[in-house]
Amino acid sequence: MNLKAKLLNGFQNKYEVGFNEERIAERLSQLASIGLTEEGGSNRIAYTKEERAAKEMVKKWIKEILLEVYEDEAGNVFGRLNGKDTTLPAVLVGSHVDTVPNGGHFDGTLGVLTALEVVQTWTEEAFIPDRNLEIVIFSDEEGVRFDGGLTGSRVMMGEADAGSLREDKDEDGVTFAEALRADGLDIDLLDKAVRNPKEIHAFVELHIEQGKVLERQDCPVGIVTGIAGPVNLWVQFNGEAGHAGNTPMGQRLDALAASSEFMTELEKMPGRFSETAVATVGKIDVYPGGSNVIPGRVELIVDVRDIYLESRDSLLATIEELALKIAERRGLQVVLDRKLRVDPVLIQDGMKEIVKDAVESSGFQPVLLPSGAAHDAMIMGRHVPTAMIFVRSQDGISHNPKEWTTLDDIMAGCKVLSETLKQLVAG
Ligand SMILES: [Zn+2]
Repeated sequence: MNLKAKLLNGFQNKYEVGFNEERIAERLSQLASIGLTEEGGSNRIAYTKEERAAKEMVKKWIKEILLEVYEDEAGNVFGRLNGKDTTLPAVLVGSHVDTVPNGGHFDGTLGVLTALEVVQTWTEEAFIPDRNLEIVIFSDEEGVRFDGGLTGSRVMMGEADAGSLREDKDEDGVTFAEALRADGLDIDLLDKAVRNPKEIHAFVELHIEQGKVLERQDCPVGIVTGIAGPVNLWVQFNGEAGHAGNTPMGQRLDALAASSEFMTELEKMPGRFSETAVATVGKIDVYPGGSNVIPGRVELIVDVRDIYLESRDSLLATIEELALKIAERRGLQVVLDRKLRVDPVLIQDGMKEIVKDAVESSGFQPVLLPSGAAHDAMIMGRHVPTAMIFVRSQDGISHNPKEWTTLDDIMAGCKVLSETLKQLVAG
């Protein structure tokens, strides 16, 4: 069964919010056919022919509703619905169409296609906004190819430029400059993609939640309060390797036992700093790694996130103190290194209120929740008023062919997005 049939098959028109469910199911299905994997997932890596084909497909749909389509030097695609006063700063709405390898069919694409559905419905109803509304597809959100990500939005807001990106290489040794050229773009012109934030009134991104909060609350949509910024803390415990049989328990410098204590204590900490803080050890390497050898060295990475910069950094400092304290008591050495540091972004109260009003007037309970994952909205939120709407994910699964959001929930998302945008495009 193709994606369209599967979506429509489960459709109950639970919320009766209007919009064209068949059209959006058809478009999701057509996009899913680009880069379809054997496991039924999506493979549209940034600046490849698959991402390009997806952009061209959406461009065609945007043109069909007679919007002006253009593309910037970073490959970001825009479709503009002119407002009554075209000199006013525009509202931007959208997401991305690239995926992780063998990813899902909703991450990113849903934000683009709900924006298109809303604008198409407006044009059918002959609704003309006071100011311009631009649908946007950002290039290379996922960052799997060049270890970066959020590339289109970063370039557009002046956070990345040709100088910093040019020599980045993918796994095959292809540079960022070469990848752009293969996509019909020119790195020497990249910096022309920068936009003046004053031209942008607001940015809105609708995205799948990729978590289970909305499912637990039994709600199709949620209001994002902030986007957590991660810090990766690399921790190395150095003890002493020794024979597991010949070294008495009291004479050991066991790096893994120290790490275990560290991780157990670590798990209790985030809640003391804020409700939204999290800390995770997802990678650990034990050396020399033999069943009869006392571990002499352990390397692990702690991923620390929060939507509040201050509490995230206090948590991080406390985790570092914990590692030092455990190492000292056990007579081990510890090496700490803060890597990858992205500042979180809080959604402004005024923007949260607009989404909350949209949610309530659409007949849904307002559920507020943070985003643990990064999105283009995180970059945009540093420069212009930004809102983010989450739509329920089934079982919280994402970056996986099993990623699923029901068509009923998608229609609820369309309604809330439309109401949010109507507030923002009002002059
Ligand atoms: Zn995404």
